[in-house]
Amino acid sequence: MDQVECVVIGAGVVGLAVARALALGGHEVMVLEAASAIGTGTSSRNSEVIHAGIYYPKDSLKAKLCVQGKQLLYDYCAERGIGHRRCGKLLVATSPEQVAQLQGIKERAERNGVSDLQLLSAAQARAMESALVCDAAIFSPSTGIVDSHALMLALQGDIENAGGMVVLNSPLQRADCTPTGICLTAADGTQLLAKRVVNAAGLQAPALAARFTGLAPQHVPRGWFAKGNYFTLAGRAPFSHLIYPVPQVGGLGVHLTLDLGGQAKFGPDVQWVDSAEDLTVDAARGDAFYAEVRKYWPALEDGALIPGYAGIRPKIHGPGQADCDFLIQGEAVHGVPGLVNLFGIESPGLTSALAIGELVLSSRSGKCHPVPGSSPGLQHPGSSATHTLDCGSRPQ
Ligand SMILES: Cc1cc2nc3c(=O)[nH]c(=O)nc-3n(C[C@H](O)[C@H](O)[C@H](O)COP(=O)(O)OP(=O)(O)OC[C@H]3O[C@@H](n4cnc5c(N)ncnc54)[C@H](O)[C@@H]3O)c2cc1C
Repeated sequence: MDQVECVVIGAGVVGLAVARALALGGHEVMVLEAASAIGTGTSSRNSEVIHAGIYYPKDSLKAKLCVQGKQLLYDYCAERGIGHRRCGKLLVATSPEQVAQLQGIKERAERNGVSDLQLLSAAQARAMESALVCDAAIFSPSTGIVDSHALMLALQGDIENAGGMVVLNSPLQRADCTPTGICLTAADGTQLLAKRVVNAAGLQAPALAARFTGLAPQHVPRGWFAKGNYFTLAGRAPFSHLIYPVPQVGGLGVHLTLDLGGQAKFGPDVQWVDSAEDLTVDAARGDAFYAEVRKYWPALEDGALIPGYAGIRPKIHGPGQADCDFLIQGEAVHGVPGLVNLFGIESPGLTSALAIGELVLSSRSGKCHPVPGSSPGLQHPGSSATHTLDCGSRPQ
């Protein structure tokens, strides 16, 4: 049986970032991807926003990895010439109740290390965006947008330049965790023995982990799918900043984002679905978009929204349940040497990808180096207990 030191399952932005970190760290790496190209999953079906790290609970992985990942991502984009723009975002309150929430949002952001938010009056916000109607706003100057596909191509280039491989059309079927390593079996029966395996299969990560013999079932969360639909705007956008409403349960609300070409899109909404393949956008959902968008842009004309695309959030909590943190489990949690499972890597996963890579690398080295300013903690859904990744628990 062929042997390789590290195998990463999934060539989305997170799997590629993890593989890049491992490859640059001097490890032999192979990425196994089920599809015929990189980045065809959630990584190409999102808002492409570089998030500032505003909303997440203090000390959560989402907060830490987003704030660290944002800086790493801006630096990487600049270094590699990847299309991006630090365009900033306005977080708008459209009712007195929401105005009252803005100060709390700013304080939460400050606890996460995001100290550049500015509270704006309605007039100040309108001076930045004349088409905007709101009662007050927050300006986040460090929010931006990125060309996610160019990012993934750059990550793949780095992996390959460092001697790693990205192998397409290779769906992993199962894994057997043995004392000599993790035996991986692809759908065509091909087998590979790896010392280290990182499950970065996105929406499929829980279902795949459930097929790992030797991994106790209590360490595999149930996966849920929350579709986010987008509608694109016909014609030119009257905004140059991203415009977000005050967050709602399950998502960040129907916001306006721009791509690097200036095309505006609205979304994503939240639609719980049973299948990860359910990617059609129902035009009828547009009615709710008009109502939401007109709260901050009343001039939106009838017929201006065109069904766009949808992406599915890899949730590890169901409808009505409290939001979960990223769930990153290593040996110290589940007891399987060499295995790291990445569960629930929803937004801000794109922003956090490079920091997730650094975190997995530091746990891999056994030296337990956190990403600067962090500790490699994780929080289980429904639990307040913080656990360490698999740092230092295994000889190299
Ligand atoms: C609607 C929406 C909007 C979002 N907006 C943002 C945003 O603006 N900013 C931000 O920071 N984050 C955002 N996110 C989150 C971000 O898109 C994800 O966190 C990120 O793309 C996850 O990347 P990934 O590599 O983990 O997963 P994926 O991109 O889904 O990659 C997983 C890969 O694994 C492969 N795979 C699955 N099973 C197997 C198998 N058995 N064998 C081999 N390969 C397999 C898949 O084919 C896929 O290529 C958004 C997400 C959604 C859904």
